[in-house]
Order: sequence, then C-alpha cells, then structure tokens
Amino acid sequence: MTNGLIINGTTRVCGLIGQPVEHTFSPLIQNTAFAALNLNYVYLPFQVFPEHLGVTLAAVRALNLAGINVTIPHKEAVLTHLDEVDQEARLMGAVNTVVNRAGRLVGYNTDGRGFLEAVTSRTEFEAEGSKVLLLGAGGAARAVAIVLALAGAKQIIIANRSKVRAWGLVRVLSEHTPVRAGYMHWKPANRVFAKDLCKIAEYADLIVQCTPVGMYPAVDHAPEFPFRVLQPRQLVCDLVYNPVRTKFLIAAEAAGAQVVDGLEMLVRQGAIAFELWTGRKAPVEVMREALELSLNRERR
Ligand code: NAP
Repeated sequence: MTNGLIINGTTRVCGLIGQPVEHTFSPLIQNTAFAALNLNYVYLPFQVFPEHLGVTLAAVRALNLAGINVTIPHKEAVLTHLDEVDQEARLMGAVNTVVNRAGRLVGYNTDGRGFLEAVTSRTEFEAEGSKVLLLGAGGAARAVAIVLALAGAKQIIIANRSKVRAWGLVRVLSEHTPVRAGYMHWKPANRVFAKDLCKIAEYADLIVQCTPVGMYPAVDHAPEFPFRVLQPRQLVCDLVYNPVRTKFLIAAEAAGAQVVDGLEMLVRQGAIAFELWTGRKAPVEVMREALELSLNRERR
C-alpha cells in the first residue's frame, strides 16, 4: 500500500534516477498527487551509477515504466539513450523528465517551464520584451534562460564566475533564439563590476538568483547584490528552495521588489512531469502543501 492506494497488476510505475537520491522531494510530491487524483500510479527513487545508465534506460522500456525523472549526474548523459528529445531540452542540453510512449522514450526538461509557470502564476510578469539578469550559469540558469528567450525576452545578461560556462550559454542563446544575450564576469570585490551590476540591476525587469548560495545549511549567505537600486516594478526570484525565504529574497523584498521563491518552481516542474506521464491536470495546491509540510518538518 502507498498513500492509501493499493498496488496491483495495473499499477503504473514512475521513478527518479540519480546518484544520490536520498534527499529528493519528488517521491513525496508525485505520490501525493497520484493519491489526490486516485490514480493507480506509484513513484520510486532509484540510485543509478553512471556505468548503469544505459541498462537503466533499457529497463524503463523493458519493464514498461510510465516515465522517469532524471537528476544529477545523468541529466546530460541521458540524451544519448533517448529516442526523441524535445526542442527546449535539446537547447538546454539536459533532460529531467522522460516519458515512455509505447516503448519510445521521449526526453523533456521541465525546469524552465516550471520557472515560467511559477512567476506567471504569482505575478503579472510577461516574458515578451523583458530584460533579464541571471546570477549563475549552471544547469538551472540554462533552463531558465532558454525558456525566457523562447518566450520572447528582449535581453538576458548572465553574471557568472566561470567565463567558459557563461559564454557557452550566451552562445546557445545567440545562435538559437532572437534574444540579445550578454555576459558579466562575477567579481563582487571589483569596483568596475559592482558599478556595472548596479546599472544592469536597475534596468532589469526580472532578476533570477540561480546559484546555490544561501542554500541550507549556509542560510546566512547571499550573493553580493546592490539591493538598494531595486524598485517595486521589478521581480526578483531565487531558485534555492531550502530555505524558502532566502537571505537574498528577504533583502530584495525589503528593498521593495516583488519576489517569487524556488519552492513554487520546484512544485511546477514536478506538476509538468506529472501531466506528461498521466495526461491529467496536476493538483498543484496539494503538491505544494505536501512539500511545505515536509520542508517545515525537516527544519524542526
Ligand atoms: P550548477 O549546475 O552546479 O550551477 C551552479 C552555478 O552557481 C554556477 O554558475 C556556479 O558558478 C554558480 N556558483 C556556485 N557557487 C557560487 C558562489 N559561491 N558564488 C557565485 N556563484 C556560484 O547548479 P544548478 O543545477 O544550476 O542549481 C543551482 C541552484 O538552483 C541550486 O541551489 C539548486 O538547488 C537550485 N535549483 C532549484 C530548482 C527548483 O525547482 N527550485 C531547480 C533546479 C535547481 P561557476 O560556473 O562559476 O562555477
């Protein structure tokens, strides 16, 4: 029995593959959603080492799993084991959701869409014509940047420590989308950088914190940022979801900006995966409630 549902001969199996998988919230939010809609599905975590990725994907077909989520370290490597990859996921170079369509494995990346749904469901933000500042250029920043660019953002500036990573993202954006993409070398102690960051922060409609800075247990940390230039028309997001209210978000809100937390994105990206596997509208409120409860319990 799981969440009140009986596993029987027709139960559809979904899961998460990654390494490690112990700290994931996905089984909680997906099983809660299946139970809420009384769907005969179950979601399980599977620890998979890189050398077993190929046989794992073959097993998804052989065992007729409904689909899987993919996390670190397999998000990029999994692409070569799929029959089809959605355009957004291909541009991101990473897949976090696989759907088994009668033996054909189709890859998606729900992080970017999850982010966009999170901000548009909570605020009046419109991607079309927007000017965006991203802090960080890792996998999450890439997903957010590509979705915003495909949704019509006018300009995206990426501030990051590593030039190579940031330029890689600028190149993908410039070659495959109409957005004007640019890079700033993240050097908080440098006066020229601080001045340039002020100018861009003041001008941006949306600022997204895409680094792990401020994540539990380092909750007293926040990227250095000129919060004083923020205005109420601006939207500031943090992708970190533990804690939900990061030091960065608290400072942005205190300066008068609108804010959206990373928990909403986490819920929405899971909701999109749920909809891809089941074809049903995800019970987003129920999923969010389960996640909030669990995060609160963890902190006690
Ligand atoms: P990642 O691929 O490892 O990228 C991390 C990025 O942060 C890189 O650009 C890195 O810069 C930068 N960075 C790391 N430490 C830094 C520091 N001390 N100062 C300045 N920059 C720093 O990680 P990711 O997958 O993109 O994840 C980033 C964050 O987003 C994590 O906290 C993750 O939990 C969160 N996330 C949330 C959701 C959600 O649903 N809410 C989804 C995905 C990710 P360099 O390139 O210079 O190393």
